[in-house]
Amino acid sequence: MSYQVLARKWRPQHFSRLVGQDHVKTALGNALSNNRLHHAYLFTGTRGVGKTTIARIFAKSLNCEQGVTATPCGQCSACTEIDAGNFVDLLEIDAASRTKVEDTRDLLDNVQYAPSRGRFKVYLIDEVHMLSKHSFNALLKTLEEPPPHVKFLLATTDPQKLPVTVLSRCLQFNLLALSPAQIEQHLTYVLNEEHISFEQAALALLSRAAKGSLRDSLSLTDQAIAQTNGNITLDAVRTMLGLLDQSWAQQLLQALIARDITLLQQQLAALVQQQSNFAQVLDDMLSLLHLAALAQLSQQAAAFSQQQAFVKTLADSLAPAQIQLYYQLLISGKKELPYAPDPLTGLEMALLRAMAFVPEGKTAVAAPTSGVVMPAMSSLTPPAPAAQHQPTQAVQALAAQHGPDTAESGIVTQSEVTQSEVTQSEVTQSEVSQGVNQTKAGQNTDTSTAAITANDELQLDAATARIMARRGVQLNAPISGKPVVVNPTEPSQSTPSQQGPDSIVPAAPEAPAPKKFERPEAPEQPASEYTLAPEQNDAAYDDRLVAEDTAIADDTEDADSAAYAAVSDALWQQYEQDAPAQTEALLPFDGSIDEQNFSVRFAAQVDAWAARVETLDTGGLSRLFLLNAAAEQNGNQLTLRVAQSQQHLDSPAFRTKLQQVLEASFNLPLQVVIQYQPEVAQSPLAIQQRIVQERLAYVSRLLQQDEKVQQLQQLFNAELLTDTIVVN
Ligand SMILES: [Zn+2]
Repeated sequence: MSYQVLARKWRPQHFSRLVGQDHVKTALGNALSNNRLHHAYLFTGTRGVGKTTIARIFAKSLNCEQGVTATPCGQCSACTEIDAGNFVDLLEIDAASRTKVEDTRDLLDNVQYAPSRGRFKVYLIDEVHMLSKHSFNALLKTLEEPPPHVKFLLATTDPQKLPVTVLSRCLQFNLLALSPAQIEQHLTYVLNEEHISFEQAALALLSRAAKGSLRDSLSLTDQAIAQTNGNITLDAVRTMLGLLDQSWAQQLLQALIARDITLLQQQLAALVQQQSNFAQVLDDMLSLLHLAALAQLSQQAAAFSQQQAFVKTLADSLAPAQIQLYYQLLISGKKELPYAPDPLTGLEMALLRAMAFVPEGKTAVAAPTSGVVMPAMSSLTPPAPAAQHQPTQAVQALAAQHGPDTAESGIVTQSEVTQSEVTQSEVTQSEVSQGVNQTKAGQNTDTSTAAITANDELQLDAATARIMARRGVQLNAPISGKPVVVNPTEPSQSTPSQQGPDSIVPAAPEAPAPKKFERPEAPEQPASEYTLAPEQNDAAYDDRLVAEDTAIADDTEDADSAAYAAVSDALWQQYEQDAPAQTEALLPFDGSIDEQNFSVRFAAQVDAWAARVETLDTGGLSRLFLLNAAAEQNGNQLTLRVAQSQQHLDSPAFRTKLQQVLEASFNLPLQVVIQYQPEVAQSPLAIQQRIVQERLAYVSRLLQQDEKVQQLQQLFNAELLTDTIVVN
C-alpha cells in the first residue's frame, strides 16, 4: 500500500473546496458562467497557495463534458482524466525544468492544431518566470494571436521577473498567502476526515510554521503524522518544529524585569537541561514584547498570544519606551548569538545587558513617557481618563498630606493644588485637554528619547561596575568619579514643584507600578523607586546613582556574587555534560520489522543521519528539508541527496542557513553539496514511513496468524479490517 501525501490527496477538485482566494474564485466563476474568457491568465503568489490547483480546476471547467461551467462535474471522462493527470489537451509544463527554447518551440508548434478530445487546448506553464529569453519570445508570438481553441494558464512565484510584454497580454490574479486561521481550519477538516487524532494547539503551531503556504502546512502535517504515529500532540509538534515551550520566554522575561539575577540563573540552568535552541528563546521573548507593545495601543492585540494574561501584565507594567528598549537589546543579542563563544553565553549576556541597561533608569524613562505618549494614544482611546484621573488623585494625595490644618479649608487647597498641578505638567495636561495634535506629541517623544540616550552612558557605567564587582574584577578608574549631571532637557520639561519631594504620589493609572515583578529581597531598592513622580526624577536619580556606587562594596552584593558564581558553575557543568550527547547505539533495521526489532519506532533509532537531524539547532522548513534528505560525509564534503519535492525551498539564504546549522552540528567547516532526486529512500522521513508501515504489516501478520482470529474467521465468516489496526 503506497501512502499518498496529504497535499496530493486533498488537492481541491472544485473551486468551492479551495481554501481562501475568494477574489479569484469569484472572478473566474463569473468569467466561466458568462462565457467571457480571456485567452491567457497569470496566477501569481507565494508557493503552496493554490496557483496550479486553480489552473487545473479552471482547465476542468473549460473542458468538462457538461459544458463550460464554474462547477465542473468531476465525473465525466475529461474531468477524471484531468484529475488523474493524463488528459491529452492539458499540457502541463514546468518551466523550472524546461528552459530551453527548443522545448518551448516543440510545444508551441502544436498550438495551431485543434484539441484532440476537449473543447480547449490548455497550456499550463508553471514557474513561467524561469523560461529563457528565447522561450519567452517564442511564447510571446503565440500569446499575441492565439487560436481560439487555446488557453494559456501561467503561474509564477516571481511575476517581477516576467517581461512586461508577457504581463500585458495576461489577465493577472494575485493569490494571497493564507492566514494561519485559514490553514488551521483546513488542517482540522483534513485530519477529521483522515480520522487522525490531534490537539488543536498543535495545529495552530503547524499553521504558523507553514508561513501562509497550504501545501507546506500539509507536508508538515504529514511529517507530524509519521513522527507521532498518528496522534498529533502539541509537544510532539513543538519538538518536530524545533520550537520551545513559550513559557520559558515568559519566565526569563519575568526574571529580567524583576532584575532578579538569581532567578534568572535558575531559569537558565533549567532551560539548558531541556533545550539548546537559544535563538528560539530570544525569538519567543521578542514576540511577547512585540505583542505587549501592540497591546498598549489596542487591548485586543494581547488575544493573539496564548499567554494573553502575561502579555497584558507586560503591557500594563512597562512603559512603551522601555518595551522598545528591551526589544532592541534582545534583538541585538540575537544578532550576536553566532559570534558568542557558545550560545548559552550569548543568551546570558543578552539578558544581562537588558538587565543592566534598563531598570536603573526605569522610572526616569517610564514616568515622562507615560505622560507624553498617552496623548498620542488618546486618538485611539478616549482622552478623558488621562486628563481627569491625574489631578483628582494628586488632590487626594495632597489633601491627605496637608492633614488637619488644611482640612477645614478644603476648597481653597484643592484649587491651589489643581493650579500647581497644571503648571507642573503643562505639557501633558494641556495637550491632553486641548485635543491632541500628533506633531507635538512627536516632538515630546523626541526629547524623551534624547533623555534616554543621555542617561544611557551613565547607566551603562553603573551597570558595568556592578557586574564587574560581581565577577570580582577591579576597575582602574572609580565609577563614582563621574559627574552626575545629566539630561539638561529634563528639568525644563518637569518643573519642580514647591511642595516637598513626597508631596505628590503619582500612581498614574496608565502606568502602574510593576508589582508582579518586584524583587522582594532587594534592600537597596525601596519600593518607592518604582512609583516616582516625574518631578522627582532628577533628585532621586542622582541619589540612586550614589547609592549604586556605594552599594558595590556592600555585603549584600558579595552574597549575591557568591550565589551567582555557584549557580553559574553548576550551569556550566550541566551544559558540558549534556553537550556530547548522541552516543546511543543504533538499532538494527534492514527494512523489515519483526519480533526482534519491534522496539524500533523512530528513524532516529536506526539511522545516524536521522539521529543527527533530531539534534540540529533548527526547525520548520529547513528541518523538513533535511528530513527529506540523505547525507553522506566524505571528509569536509557533505553530500545531501534531497527529494525533489523540497526543491522549492532552496535559495542562497536557505543554503547559508543549512550550512551554519550543519557546521555547528558536525563541528567542522563543510562543503555542502545538494543533489535533487525524485525520491530519496534513505531520508529520515522515508525511513520513518517505512518503519510505520512495517510495524503495521508485522502486527497485521501476527493477527492473521493468530489462532483465535482464524477461528473467528472460519466460524463467523469474520473479516479482518487491516486498515483499522493501530500500532502503538
Ligand atoms: Zn466533467
